[in-house]
Amino acid sequence: MRSPDSCWLVSGPRWTGGSTPLPGRAGVLVLGAGVMGSTLAYWLARAGHAPLVLDRNDSPAEGSSGRNAGRVIQGGNAQHAPAIERFGHGQALAVYRATLVNRDLVREVTAREGIEAHRTTTAKLDLTDSEDEALELKRTADALSADGIAAEWLDLPGARRVFGTDLPDTVLGGLHRPDQDAVHSVGYVRGIADAARRHGATFSLGVTATSLERTEEGAWRVGTDAGEVLADQVVVALNAWTGRLLPELDARITPVRGQLVQTAPVPFRIPQWGLDRGLVYGGQNQDGSLLLGGLRTTVPNRDENIELPADANTPAFSPELADRLATALPALLPETAGVPVVRAWSGVMAFTPDRCPLVGAMPGRPGLWVMAAFSGHGMPYSQVVAHQLAERIGGGAGAGLPAAFDPARFR
Ligand SMILES: Cc1cc2nc3c(=O)[nH]c(=O)nc-3n(C[C@H](O)[C@H](O)[C@H](O)COP(=O)(O)OP(=O)(O)OC[C@H]3O[C@@H](n4cnc5c(N)ncnc54)[C@H](O)[C@@H]3O)c2cc1C
Repeated sequence: MRSPDSCWLVSGPRWTGGSTPLPGRAGVLVLGAGVMGSTLAYWLARAGHAPLVLDRNDSPAEGSSGRNAGRVIQGGNAQHAPAIERFGHGQALAVYRATLVNRDLVREVTAREGIEAHRTTTAKLDLTDSEDEALELKRTADALSADGIAAEWLDLPGARRVFGTDLPDTVLGGLHRPDQDAVHSVGYVRGIADAARRHGATFSLGVTATSLERTEEGAWRVGTDAGEVLADQVVVALNAWTGRLLPELDARITPVRGQLVQTAPVPFRIPQWGLDRGLVYGGQNQDGSLLLGGLRTTVPNRDENIELPADANTPAFSPELADRLATALPALLPETAGVPVVRAWSGVMAFTPDRCPLVGAMPGRPGLWVMAAFSGHGMPYSQVVAHQLAERIGGGAGAGLPAAFDPARFR
């Protein structure tokens, strides 16, 4: 069964930027018009590089970027305390700070370009019902505070106050962080893509890239179903499909299915939240409807390492997982009992072994770049890494790109 469209795709603005027939030559060619390719195109265009963007869909944001939960949360994939233990304090802080810069860039760019992203800003509560995770979250609250980042551990009464609703007695409390954004994914990404176009990017849509090779003259030849294009520099931003054009990364990228359910609007407001190390998570749209996602571990071996469809945006949709998500919500938020689930959909995520994305130069392949595998966590990085990568592509330092994201780490 194919996934139905997301709430963003059915309510989002249509793409009115059109499509240009594939030219034979490009300076910088960006493969993929998701949030990554579109945002990179925006920063490249603003720097005067007039990139060409190619995507197999007829509009930007038809892939996972138009099917996610729209959460532009802060922090890396792991909580700050375990991230410090794993990557060292300097790297963990660099990643966290990058997501703070990202939050500010999302706000700045949407305001400057007049993008209607339906942004909401709430607190985020990472809830737990396990003693182990509670300790990890308390250590994280301390580590963030020591780094000057607003965070605190709240016990159950405190968590209930922030939620403004009941929470089950099994919840021990949660890590509270203020000032977390969420956006209308399709409105946001198409707005960025359109701004990129206004600043000089060209979009060739409905074109599938099939091959990539270096010519003897040192350019990159990209084969597509609409002919060939030669480019001085190529950026591969194809999410879980990245390994199809960069086989050396294939073994490092695991395709993972993610699913979400959306309820009818409810008459109360809740913060963004996660439970059980984010394996189930949720938030609320501007219209009051609730989103709930995750629960992948409840169907082992069915959501990780999935068969990637060659030409579709989503893997098979699991009605069983959608049912589990629908029943998980009232178990956490009793007020939602009886609130109907109105929509459910799936999308593809690309995970790396260390849950850090692959962003930067492809080692030993001059002029070839990658920006992919965000491990279910792309929005918190999309502006900052696009901005910094555009700077590197233009010959600058791009020093704000965390070293932990360097694709060379897997050599
Ligand atoms: C259910 C779900 C919920 C999520 N929730 C969140 C969230 O709340 N916050 C968050 O930060 N992240 C979330 N994510 C992850 C987030 O969606 C991704 O990290 C992000 O969208 C990745 O962006 P992208 O541009 O790399 O990928 P995509 O948006 O998938 O873009 C890749 C593009 O490449 C194109 N493409 C692929 N192959 C080819 C080819 N051969 N030729 C031409 N074009 C091609 C596709 O058409 C697509 O447009 C979620 C993901 C899912 C599935």
